[in-house]
Amino acid sequence: MTTAQEVKTLTHFIGGELVEGKSNRFGSVFNPTTGEVIAKVPLASVEETREAINKAQAAFPKWRDTSVAKRSEIVLKFRNLITENMEELLQIICTESGKTIEDAKGEITRGIESVDLAIGAPHLMKGEYSVNVGGQINAYSAKYPLGVVAAISPFNFPIMVPLAQTSMAIAVGNAVILKASERVPMTALYVSELWKKAGLPDGIWTVVNGDKDAVNELLENSIVEAISFVGSTPVAKYIYETGSKYGKRVTALGGGKNNMVVMPDADLEQVANAFIGAAYGAASQRCMAISTIMPVGKETADRLVGILKEKIANLKVGSYTNPETDFGPVISQQSKDAIIAAIERGESEGATVICDGRELDIVKESKGFFVGPTLLDNVKPGMEVYEQEIFGPARNVVRVDSLDEAIQLINKHELGNGVTIFTNDGLAARKFTTEIDVGMVGVNVPIPIPVGYHNFAGFKGSRFGEGHMFGPDQARFFTKTKTISERWMEAQASTASTFAFPSNND
Ligand code: NAD
Repeated sequence: MTTAQEVKTLTHFIGGELVEGKSNRFGSVFNPTTGEVIAKVPLASVEETREAINKAQAAFPKWRDTSVAKRSEIVLKFRNLITENMEELLQIICTESGKTIEDAKGEITRGIESVDLAIGAPHLMKGEYSVNVGGQINAYSAKYPLGVVAAISPFNFPIMVPLAQTSMAIAVGNAVILKASERVPMTALYVSELWKKAGLPDGIWTVVNGDKDAVNELLENSIVEAISFVGSTPVAKYIYETGSKYGKRVTALGGGKNNMVVMPDADLEQVANAFIGAAYGAASQRCMAISTIMPVGKETADRLVGILKEKIANLKVGSYTNPETDFGPVISQQSKDAIIAAIERGESEGATVICDGRELDIVKESKGFFVGPTLLDNVKPGMEVYEQEIFGPARNVVRVDSLDEAIQLINKHELGNGVTIFTNDGLAARKFTTEIDVGMVGVNVPIPIPVGYHNFAGFKGSRFGEGHMFGPDQARFFTKTKTISERWMEAQASTASTFAFPSNND
């Protein structure tokens, strides 16, 4: 049992310092593997959030005016500090999220990809220049940072998502405020120390820990120019609508319900291995996790379900401290209860339970928030397990008769984050990639997460607003383009007024 003395009280990171919370409101941070409370996180008040915004605003002009080369040098130092401190980061991430060490390593590596892209920000900030667009006039477009921008993050990638949301924003010259997930705040605070060590000026990186109060102040405060949100769909929609109402640039990425379509010609052994990793890795708490496998044709479905049943029975659910573990707990007791309730409703709505993750000893006996791997067959549109994102290891088999039926079903779903097809038929793959209405598409790839130098975002209810996370679009999202027309006249040049609209034909 944890004693009261072992529970740390966390802080914010404001103006380059760890700052104690003043609101007297706290959230509990759990170790999901043991179910114990390991820390208290302060939940910022409106006033504390406003103070942080003001400090960021005061720090911004100097950072904007710092050379792009110097900014990149600091981002490069930060990148190196992440790799040098990998072991400590892994411990923090695994303790507060429950994910396995290997999974956390993968998350850090993918997060570093977006830092790498940000190191090259000077290239992405280059403008355009035209000479002699009119009499002695040259014109150029240049990218300028926006000012104070905010990122609001989910719990499921304590480091990758915040890095993807903020690295480019900093590199192009903004002051960034991160509202980390209150369920995994320790990683964000540790990252703050790394920015400080890298030499980032105080006030350019801020972590405000908190909940709705902090978020609402970020959305409403006129100093904040842009919001990058990643989280569940209902909150993403709220963030987009509210931020837009207050005149901000907003990109809000939401949840996913991602399908793996399996054509009859696919190698089912390969498919089963791909599905199991992509579906159950990280206890299915990934926005790009495969939720539903869609075999085409009865024979494909029957064979595939047989293979999956055997493989799923061998999965090891447990603590990240055991290297044998395939996946760990979900984030909270509420989450565990909600997943189990969703499985029960799926069953009562007519789904067939092929593998029952509720029956594992660890699920029944441990205080950790474990749910075993569950597979439901004969899932149909209209059932809750089909329509809703279940953020935990309850996965579906939806049987379809044709590729057309699969495409139709997927395109009708409210969410459109990721999708993949397994086939050896190039024509089927081409039809699929052309007709499917989903943001990130794979062909024979289990989780089609784009690499950090490509843009990342879903369609439909998986993304509100036009920006992307990762990728060169980040440099566009976090800058504004000014177009400047410049004329340096000789002393004897005519300065007579002209009243016609400038036509630049001289
Ligand atoms: P969440 O929506 O509950 O929380 C995300 C952030 O929003 C947190 O910082 C939280 O404090 C804040 N928040 C929550 N409710 C709020 C409210 N009512 N008002 C203002 N702020 C609020 O999401 P989560 O449970 O932390 O993360 C899991 C979700 O994130 C899943 O739906 C997952 O699919 C999604 N996700 C999406 C992507 C993507 O790229 N599309 C990536 C990772 C996670």
